[in-house]
Amino acid sequence: MDFSWSEEHQAFRQEVQAFIRTHWSGGSARGGADEASRSYVKALADNGWLTLAWPKQYGGRGASHFQQLIFMEESSINGVPNGGQGADRVGPVLMIHGTQKQKDEHLPKIAHGEVNWCQGFSEPGAGSDLASLQTRAVRDGDEFVINGQKIWTSGARHADWIHVLTRTDGQAAKHRGITYFMLNMKTPGITVRPIQQMHGGAEFNETFFEDVRVPAENIIGEENRGWYIAATALDFERSGIFRMAGMIGPFNRLTEFAKQPDSAGVGRRIADTDENRLKLADTATEMIVARYLGYRVTWMQSKGLVPNAESSVSKSFGTELQQRNARRGINMLGLYGMLSKGEPRAPLGGEYSQLYLSTVSATIAGGTSEVNRNIIATRGLGLPRG
Ligand SMILES: Cc1cc2nc3c(=O)[nH]c(=O)nc-3n(C[C@H](O)[C@H](O)[C@H](O)COP(=O)(O)OP(=O)(O)OC[C@H]3O[C@@H](n4cnc5c(N)ncnc54)[C@H](O)[C@@H]3O)c2cc1C
Repeated sequence: MDFSWSEEHQAFRQEVQAFIRTHWSGGSARGGADEASRSYVKALADNGWLTLAWPKQYGGRGASHFQQLIFMEESSINGVPNGGQGADRVGPVLMIHGTQKQKDEHLPKIAHGEVNWCQGFSEPGAGSDLASLQTRAVRDGDEFVINGQKIWTSGARHADWIHVLTRTDGQAAKHRGITYFMLNMKTPGITVRPIQQMHGGAEFNETFFEDVRVPAENIIGEENRGWYIAATALDFERSGIFRMAGMIGPFNRLTEFAKQPDSAGVGRRIADTDENRLKLADTATEMIVARYLGYRVTWMQSKGLVPNAESSVSKSFGTELQQRNARRGINMLGLYGMLSKGEPRAPLGGEYSQLYLSTVSATIAGGTSEVNRNIIATRGLGLPRG
């Protein structure tokens, strides 16, 4: 692996940085529902960057894997939106498995940033073991009728469309009776109920389906083959570089804070103890490791190899580091670290108490740490299954 950046890559990074400086007016990149995020996404779309990695024929820029990584890295460092599920999951899946009609209808809208997508996979009884999902779709002529419930549907309240997994054959082996649909969120019978999270946000939702009718032509791929197609959807952008890159801003601010003369009685103490110096040094070291683990995944993809255990290593290390960084920061700030956003004496505007709460979910989302360790053990190390 060559760790140095070519001149072309460096120029591209500068181009991305300049784009962000010009077009980002500030907002909450998470969820992407505020005006600043919407207008930034529109600017990305106008520039062809929303679908950077897509082939040019579908409205993308045919970017290389490393250009995509640089774009993702810079977007996360600067806390700006980077595309969303339409661009990085649904579109690529449709390019491979979609009918011409589906491509014609959906790809231009995704490329132009006109639709928000959400993902209806998890259910109350199906998370890590996703193939045990129970939401049923029953054929009725040219339509299917969907009944059931999804949960943890991020962004469902602001989504225009959902890509959803349903059970269409209850007799077949569980991976073989699943069908993958696209559904307009305005279809009668869909109800979305937000779930309040401990960090104050409500990005998650429960999504209920009651006699929801969907045309058979909205199936992605073949009936009962949805499991294998959804696996493709989960395979896109697996470097996970956004996790490490998203830590850079908070970590730099914490380090700068530690160098300040007494600030609210906290700054001096941070700089003055060896233990705290070591904590910052540990995080700095681990961030370099996390960065190269992410680069390794991208490098494999760029060589046509399929990262497997490597993605799990990057995912589990990166997310556990997010949590370590938050915990170390909170401990360094002492009791002040407990103060939340909006409290005038909260150091760094309460950023670290917020991080502490919001990173709990990191080791669950997109495959838990335990599940990833199983993958590393079996596929990476060749150990027998338990
Ligand atoms: C931030 C975030 C965003 C999400 N967004 C979405 C979304 O948009 N759409 C969507 O469909 N879902 C979404 N999810 C849900 C996510 O996919 C599930 O939370 C995840 O798959 C885990 O499932 P679960 O929560 O049901 O936990 P479970 O699978 O019930 O796991 C519970 C515990 O058991 C452990 N465990 C389970 N199986 C094993 C095993 N085989 N070996 C060892 N330990 C095991 C787990 O590691 C965990 O500690 C999101 C989750 C998070 C945190």
